[in-house]
Amino acid sequence: MSRSAHPAGPRHADVLPEGRSAASTAPADDLNALDPKVWAHTVARDADGVVTVGGLPVTELAEEYGTPAYVLDEADFRDRARAWRTAFGADADVFYAGKAFLSRAVVRWLDEEGLNLDVCSGGELATALAAGMSAERIAFHGNNKSPEEIERAVRAGVGRIVLDSFQEIVRVAHIAQTLGKRQRVQIRITVGVEAHTHEFIATAHEDQKFGIPLAGGQAAEAVRRALQLDGLEVIGIHSHIGSQIFDMSGFEVAAHRVVGLLKDIRDEHGVELPEIDLGGGLGIAYTSDDDPREPHEIAKALTEIVTRECEAARLATPRISVEPGRAIVGPTAFTLYEVGTVKPLDGLRTYVSVDGGMSDNIRTALYDAEYSVALVSRASDAEPMLVRVVGKHCESGDIVVKDAFLPGDLAPGDLIAVPATGAYCRSMASNYNHALRPPVVSVRDGEARVIVRRETEEDLLRLDVG
Ligand SMILES: *Cc1c(COP(=O)(O)O)cnc(C)c1O
Repeated sequence: MSRSAHPAGPRHADVLPEGRSAASTAPADDLNALDPKVWAHTVARDADGVVTVGGLPVTELAEEYGTPAYVLDEADFRDRARAWRTAFGADADVFYAGKAFLSRAVVRWLDEEGLNLDVCSGGELATALAAGMSAERIAFHGNNKSPEEIERAVRAGVGRIVLDSFQEIVRVAHIAQTLGKRQRVQIRITVGVEAHTHEFIATAHEDQKFGIPLAGGQAAEAVRRALQLDGLEVIGIHSHIGSQIFDMSGFEVAAHRVVGLLKDIRDEHGVELPEIDLGGGLGIAYTSDDDPREPHEIAKALTEIVTRECEAARLATPRISVEPGRAIVGPTAFTLYEVGTVKPLDGLRTYVSVDGGMSDNIRTALYDAEYSVALVSRASDAEPMLVRVVGKHCESGDIVVKDAFLPGDLAPGDLIAVPATGAYCRSMASNYNHALRPPVVSVRDGEARVIVRRETEEDLLRLDVG
């Protein structure tokens, strides 16, 4: 269900979620303008009208690295990581959610900026360790970690494993004990909060695969069992309420319920668990209609909520951790495409086909996600035209940007860019139609560097063993 409005008129009568000012039903005044809310920090248009990032013109990047390509602004990434770190201060931890986008370069940047890291598979763990991230700063997540993955994480010495089911409590305890270790764990609970977001990406209502419901005393029972097992050191409770959230009230309710559980645990077992994790899910601006909060506002709000709830429950305030993924990497990258065909459909809109599509950005097809788009290889004063940016895949749902305006003189060979594709685009990319997944090119201070190279047909054929 889309919460936005259609340029031709609102499709849904539903109330816009908080954080959305108004729906754009008209083109922006100046299609050449680049809204700093949706573009990476160093993105600008030079005197010739060409968009630059990190001081490099996109035309040069396209020539050197080809299209489609994800272009990531390293300075922006570091700024955002640091802003989160600074906002939460020394008494809290920021875990970057690696599933949003992970590569060894990114792990090193995070390490240098003092962030910790969430992983949720053996592959993500391997990437983090290969980049030299210290295992104590890694948290291991997932609703179905295999025994092999658990063993690897315990052996590596990860700082915490987030337990997601009764069976996993026993499984992790057994593996840790067999290895002669005591594993630090948090227990992931669902607090019955549904954040304001798309149905399929909300994760804290109870009818879902993640976490152990607080309802019916199940979470309390999980803690009871975990506390009895020698292989486990229970350090806290974890709650993640959803994705692309703008409204802090969901966190408020979640914190209230998590602290309520901590109080029950204290009353029953005489232990005050030292940590709570409130998850990630903080929203970013995909279009000019989105108004995300700054990390310092989020930190202040979350810290106040937890402190207040703990005071009311007469508990010492636990150490807080958060897990932003999208909010750090999302805005730092854009996808650079070359326009292939431009097909006007009378009375409807113009379909602009690019050289990528749902294989490099599945979010529009999967979640009805909203994106914006701009002509970046030149400026144009032509009249705006209503477009739909589509890919080259054999699927009519292969849409990258559902509704947007681009200059009416758009032509094959022009470069267009879709901002805010740093999160969940490369990490969810596929080889549909045997597409070659695009590279990630990071730029900084006038220099570009490939951090994930483009796939080749050789890569594809290597897996096809005949
Ligand atoms: C996906 C996920 C996150 C990160 O979510 P974002 O929307 O990228 O901030 C954090 N914690 C957990 C447990 C997750 O599953």
